Amino acid sequence: MRQSHAFIPTLRDLPADAEVVSHQLMLRAGMMRQISSGVYTYLPLGYRVIKKVSEIIREEMDRAGGQELLMPALQPAELWMKTGRWDDYGPLMMKVTDRHERPFALGPTHEEVITSIVRDEVKTYKKLPFILYQIQTKFRDEYRPRFGLLRGREFIMKDAYSFDTSEEGLDRSYKAMYDAYVRIFTRCGLKFRAVEADSGAIGGKDNHEFMVLASIGEDTIAYCSSCSYAANLERAEVVHTPNPSDEEPQPLRKVTTPGVRTVAKQAEIMGIPVSKVIKNVVFSVEGKPVVVLVRGDHEVNEVKVKNFLNLTTLEMADEETIRKVFGCEPGFVSPIGIAGITVLADRAIKEMVNASTGANETDYHYLGVQPERDFHVDHYGDFRNIREGDPCPRCGAPIRFTQGIEVGHVFKLRTKYSSALGAVYQDEKGNLKEMLMGSYGIGVSRLVAAVVEQSHDENGMIWPKAIAPFAVHLVPVNIEDAEQREFAERLYGELQNQGIEVLFDDRNERAGVKFKDSDLLGIPLRVVIGTKIREGKVELKIRRTGESLEVPTRNALQEILRVWEGLE
Ligand code: ATP
Ligand code: MG
Repeated sequence: MRQSHAFIPTLRDLPADAEVVSHQLMLRAGMMRQISSGVYTYLPLGYRVIKKVSEIIREEMDRAGGQELLMPALQPAELWMKTGRWDDYGPLMMKVTDRHERPFALGPTHEEVITSIVRDEVKTYKKLPFILYQIQTKFRDEYRPRFGLLRGREFIMKDAYSFDTSEEGLDRSYKAMYDAYVRIFTRCGLKFRAVEADSGAIGGKDNHEFMVLASIGEDTIAYCSSCSYAANLERAEVVHTPNPSDEEPQPLRKVTTPGVRTVAKQAEIMGIPVSKVIKNVVFSVEGKPVVVLVRGDHEVNEVKVKNFLNLTTLEMADEETIRKVFGCEPGFVSPIGIAGITVLADRAIKEMVNASTGANETDYHYLGVQPERDFHVDHYGDFRNIREGDPCPRCGAPIRFTQGIEVGHVFKLRTKYSSALGAVYQDEKGNLKEMLMGSYGIGVSRLVAAVVEQSHDENGMIWPKAIAPFAVHLVPVNIEDAEQREFAERLYGELQNQGIEVLFDDRNERAGVKFKDSDLLGIPLRVVIGTKIREGKVELKIRRTGESLEVPTRNALQEILRVWEGLE
């Protein structure tokens, strides 16, 4: 590709609204442009990378026995109503209506569509198992589209679905997909970790998210400093280590605490550590309040609460509800003296002595609170987030935290969708059985941004060889110099004949501009043709390491091929 006519609109300045490096660099390098919040055009340079990643995914999906198809983005609402997700998906789903006022969704995912297709076509065990996949545009009206391709409202996903007749078969499909994901992310040059993820109320351990380790990641991963345990913060189990207190229990005392609404302030005024405060978090479950108690220095884990209550969604109670139910401002809620309200408590609450909590009266808190003596708890359980330093649930070594970007998700659906949509087959004995399904997603466009997050320096992007938009950036320093130009033209042709993808900077620009752009675009190997051409020499420069070497013009082609071969 000749750069003089390439549609690569680079930017000199930092784009104002781009907060993270991948977003900034991809805009500056002219890889993409936004047309509406979270909706992007992949410009030619960006699309080359998307295509490379897609090809790697295709190869590995095919290798794992997958068959590619392409489903529609436009999906009739009836399908979603049958599984209950027309409502459950909530405002995340982009909804449209046709000219007959019939409702449709712009697909955020394809479980409903694939299950209905397979249901209609497969009736016998003889056709099973199989894995179907597609690479396709998805739509999600994200609450906070941001960080460029990392969280878009329209994005490219690879989604695969497996259909099996037995648990062992499902295990095999799951493992085949898991292993394919490891190969895909490794080939894309990513540093990643597969972490245990939340499976919702259904439970089960076969649910992993593939996390790219990056400081800007929106997910917190709890991992063990010693063994291989890693889980999402929302999922990581807390091991309860009993720590009984030998303090003398005191009587309950009500104290005035005007305007004290935070745990920190409450502890300060009472002269106690925050770990002696009982935090009351109020949720609204089917119109009824549920209070969850955690220690002041702990964070309530909504996913654990939601799963315990067997719900698909969980909402915090609003301030109005709190005032009505507890008769006080939020911040003064208490489990003491309430009747008919479900109270859940984290296990650490049970052994608290002389704690402090609200009084269900604005501007008052209690001191000398003893759980059980002063209030009733319906259920004690693991309702809090794990913290750094807490023991690993597998081996007991301290837990550490890191941030991650979720690039892939593998998940056993079992019969959730086959049951809702009637995807059944006849087994050997003629009995009707529901198909066992798995769902496997990769955020293709997000993955590209995740690579940039992990692979860049202050001057620009650094593409791993396997997914670089071009292999070689051919840069004659002065295109008006006949010798440089002629040699560059010849090399350009030769490299192309060898099947090497070359971006040829044939622009009449200053050397400084060309080198700056070259660093920004991050093509793995740069070939600089400058004044040394007169001595029969050209320079090869490796973007990642900054290493450069001079090679004789007469075997420049062989040297380029050799260096390219050795790159990662
Ligand atoms: P997240 O928790 O980040 O919102 P998710 O768990 O809802 O993602 P899945 O339904 O598991 O996403 O979708 C499969 C994959 O699609 C994810 O692992 C992620 O890589 C990608 N993905 C999901 N939402 C987006 C988005 N808004 N923009 C880009 N990629 C996305
Ligand atoms: Mg996910």
